[in-house]
Amino acid sequence: SLSERLSGTINRIRGRGRLTESNITEALREVRIALLEADVALPVVQALIQRVKVRAVGQEVMKSLTPGQALIKVVRDELTNVMGAQASDLNLNVPAPAVILMAGLQGAGKTTTVGKLAKHLKEKRKKKVMVVSADVYRPAAIEQLKTLAGQTGALFFPSESTQKPVDIVRAAIDDAKKSFADVLIVDTAGRLAIDAEMMAEIKALHAAVTPVETLFVVDSMTGQDAAVTAKAFSDALPLTGVVLTKTDGDARGGAALSVRYITGKPIKFMGIGEKPDGLDVFHPDRVASRILDMGDVLSLVEQVEANVDREKAEKLAEKVSKGKKFDLNDMRDQLEQMQNMGGLAGLMDKLPGMGQIPDSVKSQVTGKEVPRMIAIINSMTKKERRNPDLLNGSRRARIAKGSGMQPADINRLMKQYQQMEKMMGKLGRGGGKGMMRGLKG
Ligand code: GDP
Ligand code: MG
Repeated sequence: SLSERLSGTINRIRGRGRLTESNITEALREVRIALLEADVALPVVQALIQRVKVRAVGQEVMKSLTPGQALIKVVRDELTNVMGAQASDLNLNVPAPAVILMAGLQGAGKTTTVGKLAKHLKEKRKKKVMVVSADVYRPAAIEQLKTLAGQTGALFFPSESTQKPVDIVRAAIDDAKKSFADVLIVDTAGRLAIDAEMMAEIKALHAAVTPVETLFVVDSMTGQDAAVTAKAFSDALPLTGVVLTKTDGDARGGAALSVRYITGKPIKFMGIGEKPDGLDVFHPDRVASRILDMGDVLSLVEQVEANVDREKAEKLAEKVSKGKKFDLNDMRDQLEQMQNMGGLAGLMDKLPGMGQIPDSVKSQVTGKEVPRMIAIINSMTKKERRNPDLLNGSRRARIAKGSGMQPADINRLMKQYQQMEKMMGKLGRGGGKGMMRGLKG
């Protein structure tokens, strides 16, 4: 997976100390392969890599003390950017009935999506919805829509396979007006592949109904083909948005990126199941994670971002760099930060490649140790925390009692404190600022 590959690359890069343009190129090659494997179309991959590269050789990644994570974050950001911000809902801002035209290949999920949209508009936006089928090639298609209308409580305008599609939709608009429907959703026919006749027909329908929304429906599992289809429909029709279907069965997510990039139109919804409630607003960040196959790494980045108390880390860095003593308050702050991040155990499990580290090694730095250490520090007086030298035998015995531990536990904590203090002291004296910056992320 990409996460494994990237972690390997990043380790190599880190091993060499500094990040340079050439070793970033190495990491970007991995990203590129992963995108292609996720079925993202080649021109889209190239454009994306270019954008990532510009940012990757900039300050943000090169100067970061965690370049691997910084790079991953840039890739994730750019993927999300290409797919657009959180999608807007349907535009219904026209005199009723607002017409929504569905376009796409046969089997893409148009008819199913009409049912889903009818339900969405009725329940979420309190609209009176009418649906009509202009798919005169497959009589079963009209029946399928009628059934869906029944299930979702939408009005159904009947049509016959002997009628002309344009006549059907004109009559449906008249009827929608008479019935005071707010929205008319027009289902259309699709072919198995793009052909001139289908394009001519959908263009004629578009001209006849002047829809406020023209939605391109595309099966996310078609991968590279989705890009080709999107191009053809986008050239033929002024699309207003995209519905990406069958994302529940698509592990790769590349189609979302290609389709969005090629049409330049927002992905408004994604299909997440066959039933009328299988519709979700589009979440670009989730799809980005899926493409990168590194949801765990991303959630780690987020967790660290959310939980590291930047202010405290900065204060500590400043204090140490000025040569001030690292005291037990500082130690408690550090321990609390570790705890906020879900403990080292939680962190380590999320890091790629951590599977190889034996549990015995992991448990030395994880386990229940951290909350116990915090409890001990909490049992000290303010004065003792600021001035650990005060902690003689009798004071340690009192603290052991107060925190429900053994005197040996207190001694162990004090030893750990002394080690940290020594390390911090060294940092303060010798250009340790750089390392402290790591705490600030
Ligand atoms: P149309 O030819 O474009 O009208 O496609 P249909 O609406 O008839 O759907 C084709 C097939 O895809 C049907 O079996 C649907 O149940 C299925 N389908 C549509 N959307 C989704 C979805 O989001 N998830 C899943 N799993 N199946 C879907
Ligand atoms: Mg259909």
